[in-house]
Amino acid sequence: METLQKRIEEHINKLSQFTATPGKGTTRLTYSKEDRQARDYIIEKMKEYGLTVREDGFGNIFGKLEGMLRDAPSVLIGSHFDSVPNGGSYDGPAGVVAGLEVAALFAENQIKPKFPLEVIALIEEEGARFGGGLMGSRGITGLLGEEDFKKLKDKDGITTEEAMVKIGLDPSLPKKRDPKTIKAFLELHIEQGPILEEKNIPIGVVEAIVGLTQFEITVEGQAGHAGTTPMDRRSDALVAAAKMIAQFPDLAIEEGEGTVMTTGQLNVFPNGANVIPKKTVFTVDIRSGKEEHIQNVIRKMNDLIESYSTDGMKISAEQQLYMQPKAMNQEIVALFKQTSSKLEKPFCSINSGAGHDAMVFSDFTNVGMLFIPSKDGLSHCPEEWSDSKHIANAVQIFFETAKKLTEAE
Ligand SMILES: [Zn+2]
Repeated sequence: METLQKRIEEHINKLSQFTATPGKGTTRLTYSKEDRQARDYIIEKMKEYGLTVREDGFGNIFGKLEGMLRDAPSVLIGSHFDSVPNGGSYDGPAGVVAGLEVAALFAENQIKPKFPLEVIALIEEEGARFGGGLMGSRGITGLLGEEDFKKLKDKDGITTEEAMVKIGLDPSLPKKRDPKTIKAFLELHIEQGPILEEKNIPIGVVEAIVGLTQFEITVEGQAGHAGTTPMDRRSDALVAAAKMIAQFPDLAIEEGEGTVMTTGQLNVFPNGANVIPKKTVFTVDIRSGKEEHIQNVIRKMNDLIESYSTDGMKISAEQQLYMQPKAMNQEIVALFKQTSSKLEKPFCSINSGAGHDAMVFSDFTNVGMLFIPSKDGLSHCPEEWSDSKHIANAVQIFFETAKKLTEAE
C-alpha cells in the first residue's frame, strides 16, 4: 500500500509539472505542448507496466494488456488528462493514474487475464480548447463524427487537425471504436464537492451521473450613445440579459431536488463604457439527476426568453450540449460495494453532479465510477487536492473488480 501510494504521488506530481501556468495551477489544453509532455509520460509508464500502446485519430491513448481470449472485448480503466485553465492536479489525472496503477498490479501479480485490460487517457473532457467537452469519449463512441470533429476550432481559429499535427499526432488514425470491443469502463474521479469529506468517508460509489445541458443565448438590441439616447428609446442587450439571468436561480430552486442553473460566461458587445450594449452572448448550464427537471427548466427559460423578445430585441438560444442523467451499471456498483467491504474501506452511495466521460460510455457499455474526497470540496482551481491514500484505496478496489470483470464471461 505504501509503495503504491508513493508511486501515485510521483505520477501526480510529475503530471502537474506539465502546465502552461506554473505556480498558478494546471493549464493543460488539448494538443498543447503540455498535452504532448503529459502524453509522453503516460505512454512511457504504460510501456513500463507492460502495456501495448496505441493512439487513435483523436489522440486518445490506449495501453492494452492482452487477454487469453482472441478478439475479446476489453475492460477499460481511465479518465481524461486535459485540464481547465488554472485548474488542479487531480481532476482527470487521478483517474488516469489509477488506471496505470491497476495495470502495475496486474503486472506485479503476473496476472494474465481472460479478457484484455486497457488503461485509457482521454483528451478534451473539459472542452477548454475546442468547446463542448467530453470530446475523447464522444469520439470513441461515435457521438462526435469525423466531419464535426474536423470543423472544430479553438479561439485562435486553429482546427483540431492542425493542432494535432503540430504536436506530432496523426488525425488519420482510426477514430470510432466498435462498442463490441468494450466490455466495461471504470473511472475514478475526484468528487469535486464537499460530501465525502464532510462525512469523512474515503470512497463514494457513484449511482448516477446527473444530466446536463448547455445553451448559448444571444441577445441582440441596438447600440447607441450612452449620453444622447433617452432611456425610453433603448434596446439595451445587457439590461435584457441581466434581467433574465437574475431570474435563473429561482427557476432552479422552484424545480428542486438539487436542480442547478448557472450563467458562467457573459460577453458584451461592443463592450465600451459609453456605448449602449448592442449584443450580449451568455451561457446557461442546467443540471439535474432527473430528466424531467431539466426539461421543465428549459421550458421556463424559453418562456422567459420569449417574454423579453420585443420589436427591438432579438433573443435566440442555441443548445450546445445535452446529456441525459445516467445510471451506473448495477452489477459493477454491487461489485464495488462488496470489494470495499472486503477490503474494509468505508464507502457510501453518491450521485455525480458533474458530467464525466463515464456518462458517455454508459450508453455503450457497463460503467462503474468511484469518487474520492476533494479537500474543502474544491476543484477547477489550483487548490484542488485529494489524498494519495484515497487514490490508492480506489486502485485496490478497481484491481479486485477488474480481476473479476476480466475473468467473467
Ligand atoms: Zn474531470
